[in-house]
Amino acid sequence: MDYNVLLYYNFVPVENPEEAREEHFEICKSLNLKGRILIAKEGLNGTVSGLKADTDAYMEWIHQHPVFKNTEFKIDEYHKHTFLKLHVRVKNEIVRLNIPEAVNQFGTTPHVTPEEFLKAVKEAQQNPDIVILDARSAYEYSVGKFKGAVTLDIDNFRDLPEQRAELEKLQGKKIYTYCTGGIKCEKVSGWLKEHFNPEEIYQLHGGIVNYGKVTGGEDFEGQCYVFDQRVVVPVNQVNPTVIGKCGICSKPAEKMINCANASCNEHFTICEECFHEMEGCCSKSCMESPDRRAFNDQGYFLRGVNSKIYVNK
Ligand SMILES: [Zn+2]
Ligand SMILES: [Zn+2]
Repeated sequence: MDYNVLLYYNFVPVENPEEAREEHFEICKSLNLKGRILIAKEGLNGTVSGLKADTDAYMEWIHQHPVFKNTEFKIDEYHKHTFLKLHVRVKNEIVRLNIPEAVNQFGTTPHVTPEEFLKAVKEAQQNPDIVILDARSAYEYSVGKFKGAVTLDIDNFRDLPEQRAELEKLQGKKIYTYCTGGIKCEKVSGWLKEHFNPEEIYQLHGGIVNYGKVTGGEDFEGQCYVFDQRVVVPVNQVNPTVIGKCGICSKPAEKMINCANASCNEHFTICEECFHEMEGCCSKSCMESPDRRAFNDQGYFLRGVNSKIYVNK
């Protein structure tokens, strides 16, 4: 395990995002880090992989930085890079949530520790006035979520505000929100607090990734979806279960792939057996598509790279 994968964000005013972009790009390039960094006037959001000494040097650099010095890192070990390239981009928001009215509520709801969150997860299983709310999208929670959590029918985080009817049911309840690394909760918990009048609202500090490290992952069912080549990572060493289902045969499964047909590209869960039988496709018709990409062991295809290797052409 020579590599680290870093996950981090920091809501902090950035006066000149373009300049910050240049700085980050230069340091990451010089350290041979790969991954995705977003910078906006509201802060910084990143996930990168690199050799341990290099990720250490990067964290050291951030901790010395006049603007970003308070950034907290979640660190996973891995045996290789989890990204192929480095992208550093300037955006309007570091995590996009389509809210028509201007909202600057992030950072206004209290965080709870993983231990406190676990206690709430246990309580919520007994008490309907306590709600564990998953702030993530359907493809993420389909492969893993907290036991008894309330989920929302969304394909993208930015669509969450459309779930008003569902969210209104949470009025008067005590809500605990969670997401992968914590950043989505910063926005969504502030917004919920302002518009849906919950009794109390808290967010899980450091998200699922940190929760697994601190508590051993108790009562997290399935695995945690992540936005790099690992796709899913284990969380629960205490009472693990499998909740993902093969999109073809419905057997328990945790492998997530993109359909090998480039014009379909459906992101779905598949068991090993079907994965090989279907050669990474989601359907018979996709297997016959002229845009079908060559089968690879990972089921991980990149636009424009190995997507150009078509088997039916
Ligand atoms: Zn299957
Ligand atoms: Zn398909």
